[in-house]
Amino acid sequence: MAPPTMVVHTPPKPLPPSPCRSVAVIGAGAAGLIAARELRREGHHVVVYERGNQVGGTWVYTPETESDPLGQNPTRPVVHSSLYRSLRTNLPREVMGFRDYPFVARSDWSIDPRRFPGHAEVLEYLKGFARDFAIEEMVRFDREVVKVGLLKGGDRSQWRVKSRKTTNGTCLDDEVFDAVVVCNGHYTEPRPAEISGISTWPGKQIHSHNYRTPEPFKGQIVVLIGSEASAVDISRDIAPVAKEVHVAIRTPKGATLGKQPGYSNMWLHPMIASVHEDGAVVFTDGTSAWADVILHCTGYKYHFPFLETEGIVRVEDNRVGPLYRHVFPPALAPWLSFIGLPWKVVPLPQFEFQSKWIAGVLSGRIALPSEKDMIEDTENFYAQLKTAGIPMRYTHKQSEEQFEYNNWLADQCGIPGMEDWKTEMYFATSKNRKARPETYRDTWEDDDLVSQAYKDFARFIS
Ligand code: FAD
Repeated sequence: MAPPTMVVHTPPKPLPPSPCRSVAVIGAGAAGLIAARELRREGHHVVVYERGNQVGGTWVYTPETESDPLGQNPTRPVVHSSLYRSLRTNLPREVMGFRDYPFVARSDWSIDPRRFPGHAEVLEYLKGFARDFAIEEMVRFDREVVKVGLLKGGDRSQWRVKSRKTTNGTCLDDEVFDAVVVCNGHYTEPRPAEISGISTWPGKQIHSHNYRTPEPFKGQIVVLIGSEASAVDISRDIAPVAKEVHVAIRTPKGATLGKQPGYSNMWLHPMIASVHEDGAVVFTDGTSAWADVILHCTGYKYHFPFLETEGIVRVEDNRVGPLYRHVFPPALAPWLSFIGLPWKVVPLPQFEFQSKWIAGVLSGRIALPSEKDMIEDTENFYAQLKTAGIPMRYTHKQSEEQFEYNNWLADQCGIPGMEDWKTEMYFATSKNRKARPETYRDTWEDDDLVSQAYKDFARFIS
């Protein structure tokens, strides 16, 4: 077979009025889809690489799991999605969607009109978005990007993208782009907890990335680690079939430890102190359980196995950096960018703001500060985190800060910031989730905000 050659992408002619760049987008999940739309709207020439055979990324549910249940073997065949069968959104649909393509139940694609729908509805929404904005014509499916590197001898403004066919592993011609936008998602590479004594503990371990259904846990004693959304969902998913469920959480402040109300077989504990050869799992308060399984709902690592930046961008203790405002590495801006790194956020609206910013910067319509100023800004941000005692691994955790960040992005783009009703609805949902963890998806008190949302949506729904 002839060795792969190199294809240089040049923007189509005639050039649009603004400078048109050739841009490779990696991934056709929600981030890649909105990035592609915004880049094309700005006049850029876009190629989206997607290793799967459809759009939607995380939202493409599969019953398949990986051969290594903890996801530690770097050579394992990767299953991208971490969705479990019972998953319903943890945000109301009004908050979740893109601004001009609201996530309302539509007769042409909707299959689950609930306010907090099951995962299949989100996939239908993203497919509808891709169809209505003709995104698929920019996507190369079954194409895994295996290497993104600076073009040798270039001035750091061109990238060589190497890809292969997912179906048969055939390496394809390298392609050259002016810019690369990384949208590969960050819920695929498990970050299990480190547990003292684990090497001799006889039970099974699994990361939530490989959790799909409760049936395999029938009659078992399960220790589940974590307190974020998937830990809460999965513990409730398995409780009806498991013999016992013991949930270990890092910060028990404010939580009621011990037997959980409403359950005959669920206990809340502080973190695991150690595990032992006889199967015992001992918690830091001295309580213990003899468990069959430890289920790590402990989050994910940022992972860019294809990215070669000569050490300019690194992942250190789950900080991707240095990045100006979570998007541009100062030394490579604007030719390399990342969408969707912040977590504990409403993802899609934020992807949209980031995409518009990147697209506008690439065309020269929006100016970035100098490299020196971006470095200074980024270093100041990291210094603030350090002073506040926030570990590096929380660099991209935003929570309430997302609103200020989104509005800052909107300002850069010269567009309105996050809708007030959306912000209020986010907080109303958080409050409701805390007060009614079992039923918040079906009982709420923010109907006034829902009415405001639909008034707002009327601009975009015919
Ligand atoms: P992804 O959806 O992960 O897409 C990345 C894409 O990149 C994939 O299609 C993948 O195949 C592709 N890719 C990766 N590497 C390569 C490569 N080398 N070459 C080519 N293609 C590649 N968000 C909400 O708004 N509401 C919720 O209720 C919600 N619940 C969630 C529950 C779970 C369990 C999880 C894991 C996430 C949840 N999210 C939720 C967040 C969700 O991740 C975002 O909504 C969003 O889908 C992320 O989109 P993305 O494009 O950044 O990443």
